[in-house]
Amino acid sequence: MPTEPTSPLAKTPTADACGCDSVPGPTPLAPLASALVALREHCVLMGVERVTVKEAAGRVLADDILAQLDVPPADNSQMDGYCARVADIGNGAWLPVSQRVAAGHAPQPLASKSCGRLFTGAEIPEGADVVIMQEEVTLRESSSGVQEAWLPGPRRKGDNIRVRGRDVASGNRLLAAGIRLDAAALGLLCGQGLSQVPVRRKVRVALFATGDELIEPGQPLARGQIYNSNRVMLSQMLSDFGADVVIAPLKVPDTFTDTRDALASAAEEVDLIVTCGGVSVGEEDHVRPAIESLGSIDLWRLAIKPGKPLALGRIASSTGHSVRVVGLPGNPVSSWVGAWLFLRPLLGAMTRCHALHELPRLKVRAAFTAKTAIRQDHLRVTLAPGSDGQLQAHAFRDQNSAILSSCVGAEALAIIPPQSRISVGDSIECLWLVS
Ligand code: AMP
Ligand code: MG
Repeated sequence: MPTEPTSPLAKTPTADACGCDSVPGPTPLAPLASALVALREHCVLMGVERVTVKEAAGRVLADDILAQLDVPPADNSQMDGYCARVADIGNGAWLPVSQRVAAGHAPQPLASKSCGRLFTGAEIPEGADVVIMQEEVTLRESSSGVQEAWLPGPRRKGDNIRVRGRDVASGNRLLAAGIRLDAAALGLLCGQGLSQVPVRRKVRVALFATGDELIEPGQPLARGQIYNSNRVMLSQMLSDFGADVVIAPLKVPDTFTDTRDALASAAEEVDLIVTCGGVSVGEEDHVRPAIESLGSIDLWRLAIKPGKPLALGRIASSTGHSVRVVGLPGNPVSSWVGAWLFLRPLLGAMTRCHALHELPRLKVRAAFTAKTAIRQDHLRVTLAPGSDGQLQAHAFRDQNSAILSSCVGAEALAIIPPQSRISVGDSIECLWLVS
């Protein structure tokens, strides 16, 4: 039989322990906040590697990047038009067109009392201080065959000119350590002419779906079996959160030995082990005792719904480094919610990624009723503006932890605190589900 958890956290509820003191049994349920603290303790920080900017998509920037160049590198034209000196234009003037500058070509200094034909992105000739869009300009040919342009005035200096360094000024911080490099950030790096960038190493994960009943999609289903939903689902979520799932056998049989052996060999290879199923209190639940046989349990049984039996533990590898184990319950919704609530912030802590640390919170109006007992509920909801223009959360009808269809299309988790009653129109807090 499984032994009791060794963590003081699990045995000593904190002051905000949401009524857990009154729960019968030896292990009071730990509130989510305590679990998140325990989760980040002992977590290993990934090292740094340099990769090409192209390979850096979705990776976590490891160091601040300082701009080494002004962007744009010189004043340039914001549109196709004509450049001139404001003083020469006055209230409007015919000026000879003394040069033509296309983007990518170096201009000459602007001859006095003349204008220059410019195209978007073209560098502004020295001396010019305004650009007039071509739609406002009239052209004619003088009697001596010189092209002249009518530039209407008066004009303000700087109009339609993008000044040097307006986007990025050299010496300033271009990107801050800890951001996840999205397409715009990659563009900004390329704009500096950088080809390589320091990023956190990806967290290498072993993912174990436990359960004798599991069978792979594509195989015929025998009595008593179910298809393994969670393996592919969790693998995708881990990858969305920036991890590399490097070990993911089809399943781990429900025996203590198989579970322990799978955990022990994975601990030699990965930074994080995620299991699903087998973490509850039945005789077929071997994950917790297997973790304890190889290391320790930090926390087990949380005051959250879904996901009560979630376990946090650690296993020491043969080289002595400690590998975090997150044991998610097998019910697909519990696994899915557990991944959002625990795997995402854990991966954020292991890569010092600010965006992954916490899900953004939104205050919205409930379009449903709900009631909780001692556990904090996390309802799967969609968000849409109500008739008053305020965002409303619409809960999926069936919120049972086995109903995975409640997660498809869910945009947020509505937090329903313990011991509360929610009526339609109440203000509630939601965790916005962004990877
Ligand atoms: P457990 O946490 O192992 O007690 O499993 C709880 C419920 O989730 C049981 O009904 C399991 O059959 C189901 N379950 C466990 N693992 C998976 C999985 N990988 N895919 C789909 N359902 C699962
Ligand atoms: Mg099971």
